[in-house]
Amino acid sequence: MKTFPMFLTMTGRRVVIVGGGEQAAQKCRLMLKTEAQIDVLADALDVELQSIAQAGRINWQRGAIAPDAFAGAALVFVATGCPGQDVCLHMLAKAAGAVVNVVDQPALCDAITPSIIDRDPVVVAIGTEGTAPVLARQIKSRLEEMLEPRLGDLAALAGRLRGFAARRLGPRQRRDLWAWVFDGPLRAQHGQEGDAAVARAIKAVIASGRVPETGPAPVALVGAGPGSSDLITLRGVQRLQEADVIFYDRLVDPGVLELARRDAERVYVGKAPGCHAWPQDRINSLIVSAALRGQRVVRLKCGDPGVFARGAEEAEALVAAGLPYEIVPGVTAASGAAAAVGGFLTERGKTDTLVLTTGRKAHAVERPDWVQHLSARCNVAVYMGVQTAPQIVEALREAGLLGSVQVTAVSNAQRLDQKVLECAAADLVGQIAAQGLVSPAILFLRRTDLAEVVVPRDMPALRAV
Ligand code: SAH
Repeated sequence: MKTFPMFLTMTGRRVVIVGGGEQAAQKCRLMLKTEAQIDVLADALDVELQSIAQAGRINWQRGAIAPDAFAGAALVFVATGCPGQDVCLHMLAKAAGAVVNVVDQPALCDAITPSIIDRDPVVVAIGTEGTAPVLARQIKSRLEEMLEPRLGDLAALAGRLRGFAARRLGPRQRRDLWAWVFDGPLRAQHGQEGDAAVARAIKAVIASGRVPETGPAPVALVGAGPGSSDLITLRGVQRLQEADVIFYDRLVDPGVLELARRDAERVYVGKAPGCHAWPQDRINSLIVSAALRGQRVVRLKCGDPGVFARGAEEAEALVAAGLPYEIVPGVTAASGAAAAVGGFLTERGKTDTLVLTTGRKAHAVERPDWVQHLSARCNVAVYMGVQTAPQIVEALREAGLLGSVQVTAVSNAQRLDQKVLECAAADLVGQIAAQGLVSPAILFLRRTDLAEVVVPRDMPALRAV
């Protein structure tokens, strides 16, 4: 290592930043995270630094920089933007015994600022000694996903309770306690609910002197989002990174699996096109037995695990086996598809009801329920509707609505091969074939006849507007 990472104590120490532009502002932003006293030496400040100075968070000094300007400084950042001036200032600061960082001049740096993941008081610093900034950014974004936003609060809470734990518990019990807090369900609970409930639970355990056995982690039914891998939630990524085994479906984007731990087992339980799907019972028993073996299990489903995903059946199997489960919501395909075409699922004054339904239901003998919802202000999003388009059309015909429904179909939403088709419902089957629209797709159905009832029929000019 040419550089060695250390955490410097900053409370009350003097930091000097020379320069008033963007680079100085960048260093200032970093230092404002600390409890240091910050002096900024510059004749002029940019707007951001000005407002920080006005708020009294930095001490701004103008005018010539005297030889004693750096006296007592722990850290000096030089960011004047003028290489000649930087060299002189570096010498002055060194003479004062400070650790010096000259922006963009590695040869003049005693210390370089790392890339930081800030969950104060939990801080991760990443450095590549300047060899691979892109890699540093990649590592940072992985860690940002892994460390939930409230983790720092949980660590701070643990810090406040350490004394209490030390008085009540022996060393072994304390280790078990903190493992239970940071590696068990409490951490997930804290991520969702914050300090109060978790603090109560930890205090009760310390007071009782008995740390609960960490039961099996809940099986996470995780929504991967539709199409693109960056539509998964941060919580979903966290569960993937904790998982020993991931059971995933066909429509899950391969990029999502990349977000899992490298050594996690990935088990495909989807349906290959033209082949039989895995029987649901078999999937249920696979998930249950992996969880009973003590593995951390993620059941990864495209979109949202609560929307046409048979999540309820899996949850039931888990409960029957005495296993806990957790639902991690995802962006459902209707949201993904609407967003992909710049549309909105509901719109104030225009669409106030949203129906999520499935084309499969169209096989039913009676008229599918969604037909009755097709009113003026309703947006009906049909899942799994490509193969069943003829039945959807038939259901509309039977209801006497075939001439008055417009369809927007979005296939492979949020993917590179996304396709959009707009047509009258009467032309749907022909258009699907002609345009080569394939599954997976969402079909949005809207009444066109009723949309106009708000405008009186005898006022054509107004209607045109
Ligand atoms: N749980 C999923 C739905 C699974 S059912 C969700 O919440 O989105 C499978 C159906 O989802 C497909 O037939 C299709 O209608 C829809 N779907 C999934 N991914 C899609 C995508 N990228 N574009 C359009 N529709 C999609």
